[in-house]
Amino acid sequence: MAIAYIGLGSNLEQPASHILQALRELSQLAQCELTGVSNSYRSLAVGPGEQPDYVNAAARLSTDLSPIALLDAIQGIEQFHGRVRDIRWGPRTLDLDMLLFDTLQMSSERLILPHPRAHERDFVLRPLLDIDETLCFPDGRCVVDCLHTADANGLRVLQTSNELWQPLRG
Ligand code: ATP
Ligand code: CA
Ligand code: CA
Repeated sequence: MAIAYIGLGSNLEQPASHILQALRELSQLAQCELTGVSNSYRSLAVGPGEQPDYVNAAARLSTDLSPIALLDAIQGIEQFHGRVRDIRWGPRTLDLDMLLFDTLQMSSERLILPHPRAHERDFVLRPLLDIDETLCFPDGRCVVDCLHTADANGLRVLQTSNELWQPLRG
């Protein structure tokens, strides 16, 4: 079993419901168990042009999948949510990034681990801390320390971790 962290983001078509539904889909992935959910946050969009605010969250999975099989699985969920890839960093119904996969460090055409921009984004780091406040990156930098130097994107808690978990149980 490996432990993987997934970052979730949405800023189109009722983002909060895309996030909730994606958490449910992550919890139902074959060979995966959902073991942690962060609060969800509203954050200001980074990227080209005027964009609606984002809803961001993070999830922790225990998984028997390989990293690339897990990437296939999360990209399948993005497709299911009608994700269209046109403008880089443009608005999207659902973005699922693999932030960490155990302590694996790798770089291939399709997959870079840890996610190369995770350590500089408060909308990634804050949710990770909700799940595990002692979490560190494989290079030794800890999430709590990265948060001090990360860009500030006006995070506001939208739903607590408990509120997000509740509908996933049962
Ligand atoms: P950013 O990567 O800066 O968050 P983005 O999420 O908008 O931007 P995408 O268009 O969703 O970028 O992804 C571009 C490509 O990144 C994907 O096709 C995927 O193969 C690749 N990729 C590399 N490493 C990862 C990772 N750790 N998690 C998800 N995708 C990754
Ligand atoms: Ca992303
Ligand atoms: Ca992505």
